[in-house]
Amino acid sequence: MIDLHESELAAVVEAIEAGDRFLCISHVGPDGDAVGSLLGMCDILRRLDKTALPALADGVPEGLRFLPGAETIVTAVNPDERFDCIIVLDASSPDRMGAVYRADVHDAVPLVVIDHHVTNTYFGDVNWVEPGCAATCQMLVYLARRLDVALTGTLAETLLAGIVTDTLCFRTSNTTPDVLSTATLLMEGGAHLAEITAQTINRKPFRSIKLWGEVLPDARLDDRVLWVTVSPEQLAAAGAAPEDLELSSTLSAVEEADISATFIQKFADDGTPAVECSFRAKPGFSVSDVAFALGGGGHPPAAGCTVPGALADAVPPIVALSLIHISEPT
Ligand code: AMP
Ligand code: MN
Ligand code: MN
Repeated sequence: MIDLHESELAAVVEAIEAGDRFLCISHVGPDGDAVGSLLGMCDILRRLDKTALPALADGVPEGLRFLPGAETIVTAVNPDERFDCIIVLDASSPDRMGAVYRADVHDAVPLVVIDHHVTNTYFGDVNWVEPGCAATCQMLVYLARRLDVALTGTLAETLLAGIVTDTLCFRTSNTTPDVLSTATLLMEGGAHLAEITAQTINRKPFRSIKLWGEVLPDARLDDRVLWVTVSPEQLAAAGAAPEDLELSSTLSAVEEADISATFIQKFADDGTPAVECSFRAKPGFSVSDVAFALGGGGHPPAAGCTVPGALADAVPPIVALSLIHISEPT
């Protein structure tokens, strides 16, 4: 059984018991673990007769709207609304909370961080960080048990969704016996594994594969770094949005590569160009240090960052940096 950070977990329990009104936030560009842990945390709080408002700066992606309670998630928080505590889930640094966290109004409210990223910057008043857990949703299984909240119904469903998506359905190298034990508890509580898998890992819109058709002809393999760029023109030709790419785990299966990366050209609201980078590493290699050095974060096998600039300028130095890391296996 995993050795949890007991004093931090106790501090989380104490913060939950002390408050009545909670704001819960997860990260920008939300994935299944972000939405699952956000909904799961709110479920836990409500079962303890507390109020909980789930907020995501970027809203819920289309592919995750099947999760029970997804429709209750707000994308803006009334600055006059008072909270006793803010709980932020699956976010490794404060910028990952996006605009739903307003430093000017929320600074005075106790902030509880619950996360599993090794790159977490410990930005809360309480920081419960378990890099040994494969998903924030796995941590919430342990939290629910401490709080005597039954792992049933919608709670079981949302927590299993986060574990399934972050482990690519129990295929990542951090899928420990503990991960399988928590998943077993959730299935015993009524969660539907086959349905969750069908709705997440095994589901793509047609525009995703059209986008793959646009970008894969130009895939590059430099030494053992495999990389793909995505321009706005390619997105437009496929009728796709950046979140439709979902190519990282497919690239990471390529035999000739140890590290793979996708680079998507994006633009900030004011038109400034930025490149969103998504990295994957084979066992024995790490990409979290590269991502962290570039202002992002993640886990050794999967990490990401966003850097300013256009593809042509931003990508070559990042590929060069990845090549250096490949020569220094972990
Ligand atoms: P992705 O490639 O988007 O699936 O992300 C892989 C991992 O890296 C996830 O755990 C993300 O939370 C993390 N990650 C991605 N982008 C960033 C970023 N800009 N800052 C911090 N962590 C990130
Ligand atoms: Mn996440
Ligand atoms: Mn996660």
